[in-house]
Amino acid sequence: MEIEYDLLIVGGGINGAAIARDAAGRGARVMLVEQDDLAAHTSSASTKLIHGGLRYLEQYEFRLVAKALAERERLMRAAPHLIRPLEFVLPHDRGMRPVWMMRIGLFLYDHLGGRSSLPRSRAIRLDTDGYGSAIQSKYTQGYRYADCWGDDSRLVVANVQDAAEHGATVMTRTRCLSAQRHREGWTLSLQCADGTTKSVTARILVNATGSWAADFLPQRAGIPGAGTLRLIKGSHIVTRKLFDGEHAYILQNPDKRIVFAIPYEDEFTLIGTTDVEWQGAPDAVAIDATETDYLCESVNRWFTTQIAPRDVLWSFAGVRPLYDDATTNASEISRDYVLSLDHADGAAPVMSIFGGKITTHRALAEEVMDKLARHLPGLQSAWTGKAPLPGGDLGERGLAGLVADVQRVAGFLDEQTVRRLAQSYGSRVFAFLGTAKTMGDLGQSFGAGLTQAEVDYLLGNEWAQTADDILWRRSKLGLHMRAEEVEALKAYLADHARVEAKAAE
Ligand SMILES: Cc1cc2nc3c(=O)[nH]c(=O)nc-3n(C[C@H](O)[C@H](O)[C@H](O)COP(=O)(O)OP(=O)(O)OC[C@H]3O[C@@H](n4cnc5c(N)ncnc54)[C@H](O)[C@@H]3O)c2cc1C
Repeated sequence: MEIEYDLLIVGGGINGAAIARDAAGRGARVMLVEQDDLAAHTSSASTKLIHGGLRYLEQYEFRLVAKALAERERLMRAAPHLIRPLEFVLPHDRGMRPVWMMRIGLFLYDHLGGRSSLPRSRAIRLDTDGYGSAIQSKYTQGYRYADCWGDDSRLVVANVQDAAEHGATVMTRTRCLSAQRHREGWTLSLQCADGTTKSVTARILVNATGSWAADFLPQRAGIPGAGTLRLIKGSHIVTRKLFDGEHAYILQNPDKRIVFAIPYEDEFTLIGTTDVEWQGAPDAVAIDATETDYLCESVNRWFTTQIAPRDVLWSFAGVRPLYDDATTNASEISRDYVLSLDHADGAAPVMSIFGGKITTHRALAEEVMDKLARHLPGLQSAWTGKAPLPGGDLGERGLAGLVADVQRVAGFLDEQTVRRLAQSYGSRVFAFLGTAKTMGDLGQSFGAGLTQAEVDYLLGNEWAQTADDILWRRSKLGLHMRAEEVEALKAYLADHARVEAKAAE
């Protein structure tokens, strides 16, 4: 049997993407297949926090929190354009968690991850320290702590880009239909976007299918699954900006859950999330009216500005693929990941990934590859701990330095677009700004700062194909563009697809 790939990874969410990157960088021959767009499912529907998870301390998840906090520090260095510090304000209410509990929790949070470049937490006055203008005046005290915000779907793309630059083959809109196991490897049947099927061989199969992971092996390979998942839906709403300032709020609820209110895309506030058991297909997930009410009530309990479902401008929902640890309460199930390697009786190995956070993707991928190393002799050792992601090599001057450079090179762009481009692409931004001296040099303008040059870059370098890929995953320009502008983009993409199809004939 001739083996084409060392690793065939099914799933282009954050975990599949990170494994592809790590493996390709160690010298493995890698193929990554994703049935939809990159990050089309859970990995674009997160709260977008790169965090230890303050609330996991209540579940005594010290190991997970410590690991995630250490990763937070590494990721800030690897992708300073995509991941940036965010200050959180936690208003205090005597009826909720007591002061001693908050103090211990925040002390642990400050120290568990080892040395951190972020400021330590502290008690604050909401009425006088400048954090409370949006909060009802009956709440006067609170706490401030530091965490990070990250662009989840762009982080997936950055990992895939790095994998491809290290030689990985990446196929989106390609579904793994079946997997046949042999002693030496696997034969996989792949269905491509145009409906054709293709057969490939790989030594090791990686099941990084997120919410599909428990069913993947029984359904696609006809072998027993390696674990059970609990699918827990989480939804977010987006409203017009509810408060000024760069900080976010963490709001306590009477049911002991917390909800975040985060400044979003300059003009908006992102509010989430919920925890609801999900029985349907993972790709059919959507927010329901009860969740919208719950999120509005969470805001209304603390904020002076009151919101109702009619104020919701956009919402999104995702499914958390959590390893079933027999916990009854959805919000108490562990958010840590479980890796299952099966190579029973010397058969070709399959690695299944259950659970995990956006925050822990790099560590997860490293652990996967360390476990697979003995099946792939000759590979290099772990390398991602200190390596920047594509666009993340910003040096000492960091993001502020890059913003200044973009401003200097492309002074014709408005301030918001300069910042968006620097934050989205990091140092790669110059790949499509090129030598442009005027807006016209960047081709057609679609609105909200999106130009033909950027669209072409996304089509050619980031596996984007549709308007949704561009407006809701490579960016969030969907929030800023008018319907007719979206139509113009769709027309441009249709033309582009026609030209490509003709060239391929
Ligand atoms: C509401 C919510 C909030 C969250 N907030 C945070 C947060 O703030 N911070 C944080 O760190 N984490 C957060 N998470 C967790 C994090 O988003 C997930 O753990 C992570 O995105 C899971 O990534 P994944 O790659 O395992 O799954 P996915 O992103 O779902 O990727 C799996 C992919 O496999 C593909 N696939 C499945 N079957 C096949 C097949 N047969 N062939 C080809 N492709 C296939 C799917 O199309 C899918 O794209 C949150 C999750 C949710 C739901």
